[in-house]
Amino acid sequence: MSDKVIDIPATARLRLDGEALVANWRALDDMSGAASTGAAIKANAYGLGAVEVVRRLQSAGCRDFYVANWQEAREIEASVEEGTRISVLNGVRPDDMQYAMGSLAKPVLNSVEQVYRWQETGLPCDLMINSGMNRLGINPADIEQYDWNGLDIDIVMSHLASADEDVPQNADQLNQFDSVLQYVSGKRASLSNSAGIALGQAYHFDCTRPGLSLYGGKQRPELSAAIKQVVFPETQILQVRELQVGDKVGYNAKYTAERDHPIAILAMGYADGYLRGFSNTGLFLRGQTKLPVLGRVSMDLIAIDISGASDLGESDWVTAQYDLPTASRQSGLSQYELITGLGNRYSRYWV
Ligand SMILES: *Cc1c(COP(=O)(O)O)cnc(C)c1O
Repeated sequence: MSDKVIDIPATARLRLDGEALVANWRALDDMSGAASTGAAIKANAYGLGAVEVVRRLQSAGCRDFYVANWQEAREIEASVEEGTRISVLNGVRPDDMQYAMGSLAKPVLNSVEQVYRWQETGLPCDLMINSGMNRLGINPADIEQYDWNGLDIDIVMSHLASADEDVPQNADQLNQFDSVLQYVSGKRASLSNSAGIALGQAYHFDCTRPGLSLYGGKQRPELSAAIKQVVFPETQILQVRELQVGDKVGYNAKYTAERDHPIAILAMGYADGYLRGFSNTGLFLRGQTKLPVLGRVSMDLIAIDISGASDLGESDWVTAQYDLPTASRQSGLSQYELITGLGNRYSRYWV
């Protein structure tokens, strides 16, 4: 018996457009004006692959990366060059201290307890201010009371809750953040995520932290023109069949043929993050030809109408319509859920 490992090609893959990723970062950097532009790469760079995203954005000039936890920091530490910084947004637990103290990455301190814990080390950190989202962060009242001289603070930051909407909360958070900066200062201040960048110069401070829009998400009209699609899910046809009028498709028979037509069964499903919200509403594409999803999305399978491309057969590839704003409208899922959910059954390849 040969011990050679036989390659089994994946039946679904993510095509990732490296030029679009870099173009999106550059567009956000332009919109950020004088502020420097970092990159949120938590959750494995929103599912694309953190190491590859860091490599590409670092070459383009990005010097600040934001991960959620220390496992994610460790993933990319070997890929960052001198002068590139990593911030760990979820802060530092007692269980993280041993790794964190020897890491290149710095914690974003989110509570007074974390400040006490980290202060002992004398190492650099960032500070998260709660300016009204009430998720992580130190309250303004606590900021005013504490003596910040003992801490080596790089970025003082806060996070916008509703930057994708035109609501008074944006200005309220901006004002709260501004007033806290009188009591604590770091080397730099930062407030804006992707959508926040589009709110204008007052929101930019010294550095911005886009995530979603790097990967093709557009949550405000100002971003529509500049931001390009990066992630293209592709899958293979497993089987083609001919429906007769009255034939039903899939679980609970949510599609019934009103004419005779061919369909294809695809090797992808809700276990791949293509959730049931796409049932009877999603689209696949073959070139410009639209191939609508028929009936319910299954765990590992999807049926599509191939009336428009009846030459398709077993092992041919089709591409999901996955422009994030459009796919979000079709499925009812957020643009964030649409890319972070894509999972591990895909092979990922960069073009
Ligand atoms: C995720 C995150 C970002 C990036 O947000 P997007 O909306 O994806 O641009 C920025 N800052 C913090 C604190 C985050 O958690």
